[in-house]
Amino acid sequence: MTVDLDWENLGFEYHKLPYRYLSYYKDGKWDEGKLTEDATLHISESSPALHYGQQAFEGLKAYRTKDGSVQLFRPDQNAARLQRTADRLLMPQVPTDKFIDACKQVVKANEDYVPPYGTGATLYLRPLLIGVGDVIGVHPADEYIFTVFAMPVGNYFKGGLQPTNFLIQDDYDRAAPHGTGAAKVGGNYAASLMPGDIAHNTGFSDVIYLDPATHTKIEEVGSANFFGISKDDEFVTPLSPSILPSITKYSLLYLAEHNLGLKPVQGDVFIDDLDRFKEAGACGTAAVISPIGGVQHGDNFHVFYSETEVGPITRKLYDLLTGIQFGDVEGPEGWIYKVD
Ligand SMILES: *Cc1c(COP(=O)(O)O)cnc(C)c1O
Repeated sequence: MTVDLDWENLGFEYHKLPYRYLSYYKDGKWDEGKLTEDATLHISESSPALHYGQQAFEGLKAYRTKDGSVQLFRPDQNAARLQRTADRLLMPQVPTDKFIDACKQVVKANEDYVPPYGTGATLYLRPLLIGVGDVIGVHPADEYIFTVFAMPVGNYFKGGLQPTNFLIQDDYDRAAPHGTGAAKVGGNYAASLMPGDIAHNTGFSDVIYLDPATHTKIEEVGSANFFGISKDDEFVTPLSPSILPSITKYSLLYLAEHNLGLKPVQGDVFIDDLDRFKEAGACGTAAVISPIGGVQHGDNFHVFYSETEVGPITRKLYDLLTGIQFGDVEGPEGWIYKVD
């Protein structure tokens, strides 16, 4: 029985659900892991996650389909990315099977909170890997916690797909050229809070970050990846070692080529050459596909398709991607994991 929540008006907010998964790494190995009703972590005050940012996270969603079943979208890709992030921060990997099993257990245990089909709402899963224990020197931890918790979140676009405007930031970077930009770690987000605040306070949805080495190319859109549709029908996304590799972005690169006949291109997106695009958007699990209306860079304001209307290719990509995620459209093999 699904609980009674105002599904249509959910935002992106923490909601304490009955169960979360917790596993502990000690003496070089992970324990079995189990569901718990305790939503509070009890960790050493000297945990490296707290002092030196030795932590990583993931984000994925469970979708309710028309027939009432529940499914995950490419959780193996989230597992693989968490493993790459773990390598970068000298943390132990969470094996793919353990990761997917943890996600499924959390969805099943909280199934009453998976939003009904047709509301656009989903169950957002937040896997978290943190270094804990009594370590005060700058060393990797000996012990780790892997937890997965969940909460229902609303449709990102309540009134339908809507373009918004973004601020291109020259004064702040979210990542360094050879830093941790490609790792999904809290440290990158700590660096982004102030520029994000500046963008919000000046009427923009979020920041567009430039490549940290030269500040001439678009890299990231807040916590989403950038894509543009060029006038000669290419689906273009920036290629850089400091971008967080978005699973949504790789999925769109595939769908743009195989379903819409666009040419997939990963390459430079110079800020002085935005006229080559007829549409642009931001993509990620939370944002899905957010059309970009205009971008402000210094005194220059550039509009892609329109500040009020969604471009036709952006809309097609959105319908296709969400169709696959909610089970209405058959996706490529291996993208959907049923939670039974
Ligand atoms: C998580 C994240 C994204 C989106 O990745 P998805 O796998 O598509 O959800 C994009 N940029 C940043 C900085 C992120 O942390």
